Amino acid sequence: MITRERTLRGLRKTDLSKTFGRGYSNTQTSESRVNTAGQASGHNFLKKPALRFIPLGGLEEVGKNMSAIEYGNDILVIDMGLMFPNEDMPGIDYVIPDINYLVENKDKIRGVIITHGHLDHTGAIPYLYDKLGSPQIYSAPLTVGLIKKRLEEFGLENRVKLATITPGEDVLQLGVFKVETFRLNHNIPDNMGLAITTPEGILVYATDWKFDHTPADGRPTDFSKLAVLGGQGVLALFSDSTNAQKPGHTISEKEVEDVLFKLVENARGRVIIATFSTLISRIQQILNVARKMNRKVAFSGRSMIANVEIASSLKALIISADIMIDVGDINKFPDNRVLIVCTGSQGEERSALTRIAAGEHRQIKVKKGDTVIFSSSPIPGNERSVNDVMDNLFREGARVIYQKLMDVHTSGHAYQEDLKLMIGLIKPKFFIPIHGERHKLMVHAQIAEDVGIPEENILVSDNGQIIEFVDGRGSVTNKRVPASYVMVDGLGVGDVGNIVLRDRKAMAADGIFVVIVTVNHETGQIVTSPDIISRGFIYMRENENLVHKARAEVKRLFAKHAADRKARGDWALIKTKLREDLGKFLYRETERRPMVIPVIIEV
Ligand SMILES: [Zn+2]
Repeated sequence: MITRERTLRGLRKTDLSKTFGRGYSNTQTSESRVNTAGQASGHNFLKKPALRFIPLGGLEEVGKNMSAIEYGNDILVIDMGLMFPNEDMPGIDYVIPDINYLVENKDKIRGVIITHGHLDHTGAIPYLYDKLGSPQIYSAPLTVGLIKKRLEEFGLENRVKLATITPGEDVLQLGVFKVETFRLNHNIPDNMGLAITTPEGILVYATDWKFDHTPADGRPTDFSKLAVLGGQGVLALFSDSTNAQKPGHTISEKEVEDVLFKLVENARGRVIIATFSTLISRIQQILNVARKMNRKVAFSGRSMIANVEIASSLKALIISADIMIDVGDINKFPDNRVLIVCTGSQGEERSALTRIAAGEHRQIKVKKGDTVIFSSSPIPGNERSVNDVMDNLFREGARVIYQKLMDVHTSGHAYQEDLKLMIGLIKPKFFIPIHGERHKLMVHAQIAEDVGIPEENILVSDNGQIIEFVDGRGSVTNKRVPASYVMVDGLGVGDVGNIVLRDRKAMAADGIFVVIVTVNHETGQIVTSPDIISRGFIYMRENENLVHKARAEVKRLFAKHAADRKARGDWALIKTKLREDLGKFLYRETERRPMVIPVIIEV
């Protein structure tokens, strides 16, 4: 439902009820709000509902950001992100939030708001959307463009209801919640902060943000809106903890642009800049620098090319057509007139820069005189691959510049002084640190205390743990909703759990050892010599001795267990005993613990 001063672009008012579902009214009264809250049932005078904040992700990790705000019969969902797996999740593609609570309450969902276009805020939409009962999703133009592109990859582009809103202008009425959006800097354009007016007061939700007075797109944070909200009285501020441990201010994108300019100015040969394809702001700066230095720009990397296309078609990225060249044409220009922007700043396996560094890129071969700039910092866990790529580039004769050498990157998340300023402007009654692991949330909590928020008004919770507000009082409750990791592996969503992961880890560490025993159905005796198959444990051809011994041991153990009166004919029990005893035998022989799998075939 939408109430508004302006009509949504491209939609006539009469279309809105159709597009935005039931209950739409253009001049909604407070009465109808009570109705949409479902409190007209006659029970509302007995118990007033609490305003609940339900975090489903992002409070114990950086990633899979998703939360719900609930009041009575209305739920507002904010973000649907994914997380990339860590090293103890072998084979997992993504981790997404557990939405069981929302599935059970999907009739209450009045809408989903996506704050910006990064995957840790949008990436779970294709997996979760249908389960939520296909709610209306609202976001800013660039975010909607990026979501659409991803939905196309899943063949879902026609199924998902996406509405474009203009940050700072459109106002949404979603059940009891009145949602205003405001411009907030990050490292992608069209990032939004939310001011949500609820029956308990105003919530300000600022998930990913920084203050930048000279951002790449020239549109700084709407400070006047922050000040206005502060004056109105805010019940609770939810704020980004990613960089809560870093003192000072975040470096402005402008300073990064200045450093990039100097580097490009001094480069004698070609310049290759690697960054994230979603860092649209950085890509803009690189284009600005290239134009000033009269260099042609070529893009390389599938996601880079796709995102640049979307962003430029939405004017979120301003490219003058005359500087663009195809990557296949770079050799038609003098080296000092060429700048290449590519993916692979994290040393990702099949990315453009990794292929360039390994000499496997079809069009780009690194040579002496090239300058390669990593305009990003390695995400923890990626340092090794980044170092390998750098080493390869150095070896080929390139000059390599990265963040430790110069300010060729700045974070998209606020440092301590900016976090303080945000709290100072909003002056919330309650403060809730979000977006980060527990230690970051706690450092952010301390910052809030330092700037005058009383300790008891700082609410730190875990994923799934509900925060409630009733009559101006706020608390972290003991009520929990499911918030486990849901793993995505290929086509499977949620079918890989801890047991499968444990097996994968065991097999990765010590391999697998399969014994196939063929048994006569009548006599219960072994018919042929047991077959042994192993992978990742020993190289069998070079360990015939051990295989021999193992085979003898299997025969001996089988005869022993099969003869046991209690186990007779109970193949499951015999298999368990074989597994245990063989495991011990193999450990004695090798000090390794492969996964042992006995198979008994009756003939
Ligand atoms: Zn982000």
